[in-house]
Amino acid sequence: MLKLLDPAALDAKVTAPRGRVSIVVPQKWLRDGARLSVEVPAKIRCDLCDGGGCDACGRSGAYRVDASTIEVTLPRVSDDALALRVTNPFADREPTLLLVRVAAGVEPSAGVQWLAENHDQEQSHAIERPNAPVKSVPQWLVWVALVCVAAALGWAFR
Ligand SMILES: [Zn+2]
Repeated sequence: MLKLLDPAALDAKVTAPRGRVSIVVPQKWLRDGARLSVEVPAKIRCDLCDGGGCDACGRSGAYRVDASTIEVTLPRVSDDALALRVTNPFADREPTLLLVRVAAGVEPSAGVQWLAENHDQEQSHAIERPNAPVKSVPQWLVWVALVCVAAALGWAFR
């Protein structure tokens, strides 16, 4: 079932200026998760029209921003491609949403730097692997054992 959302809010989200950058990172970074810094060029392609020109980008197909460096967090994934959404990457300037498409490769793209391990992921990683619980003897096995002992005793004192 589709959840009912405020249509106005939905529209605003869909048509909000959205830029896109594509980067390549070593596959290991996707497997392990990481904090990255990504150099964003001064001209960003419009993700809504893919550069063709639309209302959001003023028909230019791109957004002009001050070249900057943003930090993104790569989740730990088993896929070789994913898209990250960065909201308000340029403070109050458009685009208000930046889609960072990440694809696995051998070498990171120019301007992409590994900063740190993704500690959030490290934490959930730890939660996923708790200490192995001590294997307890199933209840039914205890009863079978008791019945056997009782049967043996009954035979012995016959
Ligand atoms: Zn556009």
